[in-house]
Amino acid sequence: MSVTSQLAVVRETLPANVTLVAVSKMHPASMALEAYQAGQRDFGENKVQELVPKYEALPKDIRWHLIGHLQTNKVKQIVPFVHMIQSVDSLKLLEVIAREAQKVGRTVRCLIQVHIAREEAKFGFPLGEAQEFLQSTDFSQYPNVQIAGLMGMGTLTQDMAQVKREFTALHELFKTVQQSHHFPEGEFTTLSMGMTSDYPVAIEAGSTMVRVGSAIFGQRDYSKEH
Ligand SMILES: *Cc1c(COP(=O)(O)O)cnc(C)c1O
Repeated sequence: MSVTSQLAVVRETLPANVTLVAVSKMHPASMALEAYQAGQRDFGENKVQELVPKYEALPKDIRWHLIGHLQTNKVKQIVPFVHMIQSVDSLKLLEVIAREAQKVGRTVRCLIQVHIAREEAKFGFPLGEAQEFLQSTDFSQYPNVQIAGLMGMGTLTQDMAQVKREFTALHELFKTVQQSHHFPEGEFTTLSMGMTSDYPVAIEAGSTMVRVGSAIFGQRDYSKEH
């Protein structure tokens, strides 16, 4: 099946309030362009070194999402154009994004990455720490970042009940933070959870943004990674 038809299949299943981020990592820009021509505008990449050349090669009205771990020394390469950084996992990173965004006169939307999966993960705040971080930080110190919501990844398992519990826990944190009115009205509105294997479950659990790669672009060839 072509990218265009696979994209159409995924879109058909999404409620109107859920944003689809097409994850084009490890696929050529030409495939992202095919999705663009079919009307897709939100794209995700997990590495700065892949995001920058795709940004340069592709139409400028694409909204680029950085979804993988971001090193502070690479922030300045993407801040001039990135739409959303979904993988904010430390105060230090947030501070660097804020500083670089100020230099170029932009406000960058950020999601706080929360570690909800069972697997040991190097990145993301554990749930309790995320809540503490969100509620104890004075984000008005950083006018060049907008905390737009949360991002999380479920455990890679066939056990969808387990994944559903993880997504539900993240949704509960999302609601708690919204109800605390710690953020200006209308700003903390994005709950990014769900990928190819689990996005229907994520939507049931309250996701507002899914990040789907293989269901649109096919399998990635990891043997080419260096
Ligand atoms: C690769 C990736 C995705 C998409 O994964 P698929 O299984 O191909 O849909 C989503 N989120 C993150 C953070 C990723 O790194």
